[in-house]
Amino acid sequence: MTVGILHMEKRKLVIIGSGPAAYTAAIYAARANLQPLIYEGFMSGPSGGQLMTTTEVENYPGFPKGITGPDLMAQFRSQAERFGTRLLAEDVLSVDLSKRPFLIVGSSTKMEAHSVIIATGATAKRLEIEGAGEDGFWQKGVTACAVCDGAAPIFRNKPLFVIGGGDSAVEEAIFLTKYGSRVYIVHRRDQLRASKIMAERALKHPKIELLWNSVIEKISGDQVVRKVLLKNLETNQTEEREAGGVFFAIGHQPNTSFLNGQLKTDDKGYLIVNNGSTETSLPGVFASGDVQDHKYRQAVTAAGTGCMAALDAERWLSSMGLE
Ligand code: NAP
Repeated sequence: MTVGILHMEKRKLVIIGSGPAAYTAAIYAARANLQPLIYEGFMSGPSGGQLMTTTEVENYPGFPKGITGPDLMAQFRSQAERFGTRLLAEDVLSVDLSKRPFLIVGSSTKMEAHSVIIATGATAKRLEIEGAGEDGFWQKGVTACAVCDGAAPIFRNKPLFVIGGGDSAVEEAIFLTKYGSRVYIVHRRDQLRASKIMAERALKHPKIELLWNSVIEKISGDQVVRKVLLKNLETNQTEEREAGGVFFAIGHQPNTSFLNGQLKTDDKGYLIVNNGSTETSLPGVFASGDVQDHKYRQAVTAAGTGCMAALDAERWLSSMGLE
């Protein structure tokens, strides 16, 4: 791809991403006088990250009456801006971390940076099932986040189907028992991947039923989801069932492809950070939020690691005489 370079600057700190981790890093870095610049993304999705697709957030401290995900992100963003963060609604196409300062190439800008914070998050994986896409029932009963969307009225007292067999699938299924008439976990194998304790909870739960060796082949309905077509992979038999919702819980994909393997990741692609810090495998590059966390994945933990990344970057810049 040819990039028309309109602009080139040198920065102490560039932050890539736009969720709670990125904005918190920016707030701290801006207050520490690092004049941070954020690449918020554009084609990669709305700035604000995964919270932009949630409704009410009731577990973010400081908002006892709850706040919507987009409102919460708007507040983070304006706080980052208030202290002088420069925001660029632009995707990062590539980075070159082999030279210093590092080089960041956006869709219309090029930036040199002494330090970088990567806070690009993770994206919930989805399956290409007939009826599950944007032209079907996506966000009309099909979602990839039970905790975000499960309380919506369309799911109340309906049979709900969670796809997956890991801890997320079990956790989401248990969460959904508060709302659905019955919750089915549709798993492609005959054994859960979830931890023993979580698996036992699902197996013992009176409102949860495991559909082993099964997949959903088709989702249908009218304005919202009404039915799913299930297929048993052992017998090849199909069966149509009434359904009020389908929830993908098949894991997340950390958004690291633009890094082109320049930083160490685990086998699932999450950036590896040094224990208790946000330092990646390369000095001067820090990671915060879901791109380095497959365990907690909460707005508040992302914000916490965003703060850590800014403090780590500040100390590193200072130790290198680059502040
Ligand atoms: P995960 O452990 O990777 O499990 C993904 C599940 O989705 C697996 O059961 C997998 O099936 C299934 N799957 C993947 N691709 C599929 C496909 N194309 N079609 C059908 N099924 C598919 O992901 P996760 O459950 O999101 O958990 C991620 C990490 O977070 C784990 O380390 C987990 O322990 C942690 N976590 C912890 C908690 C907790 O402790 N409370 C809660 C949530 C997550 P197979 O089993 O056949 O591969």
